[in-house]
Amino acid sequence: MDPRLRAPAGLPAAPSARLPARLPARLLGVVVAVALIVVPQAGGLPALADPAEPAPPAVRDFGNGPERNEVAAGTPGEAAALRGAPAGERPYGWSHDRGYPRRTRLPLPPENPADASIKLGLVPYHGIAPKLNDLQWRGDRVSAEIIGSSAQGRDLYLVTVTAPESAAQAREQARIRERIGDDPAAAARDRKLARTYKAPIFVNGNIHGNEWEGADAALRTIEQLATSTDPAVTDLLKRTRLYFNVTANPDGRVNNARQNGAGFDLNRDFVTASQPEVRAMRQIMIDTQPVAMLDLHGYVNGTLIEPTTPPHGANYEYDLFITNAYANGLGMEAAINGLGYTPAKDGVEPAQIPFRDSAEGWDDWPPIFTPQYAPFHGAVAAHTVEIPLRVNGSAYDQTPAEELRRRSAVNTDVAAAAIRATYGFVRSRHDRLIADQIEVFRRGAAGEPSKPVPLGIVPGFGPEDVYTTTFPRAYVIPAGSGQRSATAAARLVDHLIANDVRVERARSSFRSGGRTYPAGSYVVDMRQPKRGLANVMLEPGADISPRVDAMYDISGWSHALLWGATVEPVSSLRADTVSVKVAAPTGSVPRAPGPLALRVGDAKEVRALNDLLAQGVAVTWNGGAAIIPASARNAARTVAERHGVAFTPAGGHAGAHGSSPGGAQSGTSSGASAGTPAGAAAGTPLGQVRVAAAASADELFTLRELGFPVTPVSTAVLNAGFDWSGTDVLYVSSGLSHATLNPAARTALEAFLAGGGVITRGQTGARFNTDAGLLTATTVPGRGDANGVVRTVASGGPVGGGSPAHSFVYSPLWFTGLGPEVTVEQSYAADGPLVSGHWRPDGQGAGGPDAARGQAAVVSGRDERGAAVVLFGTEPMFRNHPKGLFAQVARAVYWSSSVTVTTP
Ligand SMILES: [Zn+2]
Repeated sequence: MDPRLRAPAGLPAAPSARLPARLPARLLGVVVAVALIVVPQAGGLPALADPAEPAPPAVRDFGNGPERNEVAAGTPGEAAALRGAPAGERPYGWSHDRGYPRRTRLPLPPENPADASIKLGLVPYHGIAPKLNDLQWRGDRVSAEIIGSSAQGRDLYLVTVTAPESAAQAREQARIRERIGDDPAAAARDRKLARTYKAPIFVNGNIHGNEWEGADAALRTIEQLATSTDPAVTDLLKRTRLYFNVTANPDGRVNNARQNGAGFDLNRDFVTASQPEVRAMRQIMIDTQPVAMLDLHGYVNGTLIEPTTPPHGANYEYDLFITNAYANGLGMEAAINGLGYTPAKDGVEPAQIPFRDSAEGWDDWPPIFTPQYAPFHGAVAAHTVEIPLRVNGSAYDQTPAEELRRRSAVNTDVAAAAIRATYGFVRSRHDRLIADQIEVFRRGAAGEPSKPVPLGIVPGFGPEDVYTTTFPRAYVIPAGSGQRSATAAARLVDHLIANDVRVERARSSFRSGGRTYPAGSYVVDMRQPKRGLANVMLEPGADISPRVDAMYDISGWSHALLWGATVEPVSSLRADTVSVKVAAPTGSVPRAPGPLALRVGDAKEVRALNDLLAQGVAVTWNGGAAIIPASARNAARTVAERHGVAFTPAGGHAGAHGSSPGGAQSGTSSGASAGTPAGAAAGTPLGQVRVAAAASADELFTLRELGFPVTPVSTAVLNAGFDWSGTDVLYVSSGLSHATLNPAARTALEAFLAGGGVITRGQTGARFNTDAGLLTATTVPGRGDANGVVRTVASGGPVGGGSPAHSFVYSPLWFTGLGPEVTVEQSYAADGPLVSGHWRPDGQGAGGPDAARGQAAVVSGRDERGAAVVLFGTEPMFRNHPKGLFAQVARAVYWSSSVTVTTP
C-alpha cells in the first residue's frame, strides 16, 4: 500500500488525514533501521547492521575518469564502469546497435526459501531469471538484460518484448528516438516517422517491495505476448516495444518490505536518485523514451488509477498529458471492471480515478514518484495503479495463506488488465502519442512559454487544475575556483547531465542581467527538449499552501536552493558556450609547501576529511575548517582528486567562511566567536568521529555516505547493555526514548554524556534533550504536515557558520526559552520562512510559518555535565536530498566531538 491514500474517493481529504501520509513512511524507516539490528532479515541477506553488509554506496573510484561529483555512486562514472562490464551485464542502453531478440542468459540467483513472495503463491525473486531465460529461447520476441543491481546486490532485469529486429533496424529505431529528442521540430514535420517508429511502453513492477503482484502481472504479460498467435499481438509487436522492469525492488520483494535494502522508499527518490534502483529506472526512461508508462502498486480498493487530483506539477505539458492519461485511465478502468470481480463475491470494489473522483490529496506535484518523473522524458500518459486486495502488513502475517493467494491472484489479474489496456491504448493511439511526445520536446526546444490548459479539455478539468510556471531564459551556475561552491556546482551539473538535461560551459566571460559571469560558468539553456526537468530541479518551487488543503507527500524541493551550488536564473543569454558531458574537475592542492586547510562547507569536503581521518592523518579542527599537516600532502592530493575538493594553504585563508577557529576549542557555549586567523597550530586535534545513531534510514545512509563510522542504536539496544567506548557522538532522531531506558542504560548513558557529544533532530530528538536534561530549551512544533524549503539566517556559530541561506523542513520545530548556555546557530528568516512547499497554521491558528519567523531553528550548547549538544529543528538529511545541508550536520558532529576532547 502506498500510505498515500488519505481520504475515500469522492471526498476531500481532511487535513488530519494528511499526517499519516508522511509519518508511516518515516516510522517505517525507523522500524527498518532499528529492526535490522536485532532481527535477522527474512531474506537471509545481510541487514543494515550486519558487518557483512555492502559498503555504503558513497563515492566509488572507477579508475581513470574524472571525479564523480554526485555524492552518491555516480553516473557517469558508474556508466563507464558498466560499459566495461561483461557483455551479459552491459546495460541495454549502450546497445542501440544490437538487434532483437538478444537472448542474454541471465545468471540464476540461489534459491531462497525465505523469499516473502512464496507465501502468496507468487514468483520468488530467484524464480524470475529462469522464467525469463526460458521465454527468451521459446520464441523470438523476448530479450532480458541486466540493467543494474539493488542496494543488497540483486540483479535488476529489463525485459524488451518486440518483433524481431536486425541490427540495422534497431539502429534505425535508435536514430528516430534520438531525432525526436534532438530535433523535435524536424521530427514533427516528418510524416513517415510514426509509420516506422515503434512506440515505446514502459511497465514498472513492484517498486514497493511488498506490493508484489505488478511483477507477476508483468511476467504473465511477457509470456502471453511471447507465445500469442493473435494477429493483434503480432501487429502490436511490430509497432511497439514493450519494456518491463520486472521487479524494480528485488530487495523489498524478498524481504517483505516497502523499501529497498538501504531502507529507502524508491518511489520518493526520483529527484535525488540516491539509490541504484532509481538510477536504473532513470536510465530506462532516458534510453527508451516511453510514450506511456505504468507503475504498479497496491493496495487500494477499488483499484486506484491515475491521473491525479490537483495540484498538478507546473512543469509538464499538461494539456497533452491529461488528454492521453485520462483516456488511458478510463480504458484501464473499463478493463479492470470488465474482469467481473464484484464487491459481494470477491470483495473487489469498482475502480476509481482520483482526477475524476476526489477533490484533492492524491496529487502529481512533486516529481519524486515514477509516473511524475517519466513525463519529463516524454511520457504523455503515466500512471500509478494501486491494485485492490491487501496482502501486506498485518494481512501478510494474520490472513490464512489460502486467502492471501486468492487475493494475490485477483491482484495479478487486475494489474495484468491495466497493462493490457495500456498496450491496447498505445496501439490504437500510436501515431498521436508519438506526435504528442514530439510536441512536448518541441515546445521545450523552442522555449515556448508555459501553456495554461484550456478548461474542459477533458471533462472536469477546471480552474483548480490549472498550474503554470515561468521559464527563465537560462540558469547560470558559476563554477570558477573563487566560487564558494565549485564542488557543489560540479555535483549539480553532473546530476543534471545524468538526468539528460543539457548543460553548457562558457568559453569566455559573458554579461547577463547586469552581471558578468566568468568563463567556465555552467549554463542551462532553457531552450531544450527537457526544459521541464531542468526547471523542476532549478526553480525555487512555489508556496502552494493557499491553493490546496491536503498534499500527498512533500510539496517542496529545490536543487538550486538545497544542493549548495549558486544557481541564477537569467532573462537573456548571449554566451559562447560548449556542451559538456561531465563537470570539470574541481579538486586541487596548492603548490606551496606547508600545512593545508580544508573547509567543511560541502558534503564532498566532509567525505574527503573523513577519508583523511580514516587514514590516521593528524588533523586539527578549527571550527569550520580542518588543518592537515604538510606531511599528509600526498593523502590530501589523493582525496582532492577523488572527491573534487580544493585545499588551501593553512595560515592564510583557511577557507572557514563565516566560522572561525578558537571557539571550537574554547569549550564555551558561544562556540566560534569572531575571527582569529586560522593558523596551522590553531584548533583541536580531530580523530575519526564515531557516531551512534538512533535515526531513520535516510539519515543512517547519509551519515555513512559522508564517511562517518555509524552504529545504529535504539532504546532496545541501549537497554540490552551498549558499550559506549566506541562512540564519540550520539545522534537521536528516531527510536530512542530516554523515558523508557532501564536504570543500567541510564547510568551508562550518563557516563557517556559527561564529555560526549549529542546531536538531535525532530520531536524525538527534542524530547530526548528534555528528558536527558541537556540544553535548556522549549521545543515548539510547527504543523506536523508542513514541509518545504525555508529561508534561514545563520548566526556564525560552529555549526551554523557557513550554512546556506535555505534549509528544508518537515514537521518543523523551533526552540524558545533558551538558557544562557545555548547559542542560536541558525534561525528561520524573520521576513517569512517558507519559500516553496506547503505550510499552514493548524486549526487554532498555531504552528504556521508566521509563528516561526525569526525563531531559532538550530541551537548548540554545552550542558552542565560537559556534553556538547546540537538540536536541529530542520531536516538537513531528508531522504538524502538537501546535499548542501549535509556539511552542517558534519560540522555539528565535528564540533560536538572536538569541544569535548580530553587530553589522552
Ligand atoms: Zn506503492
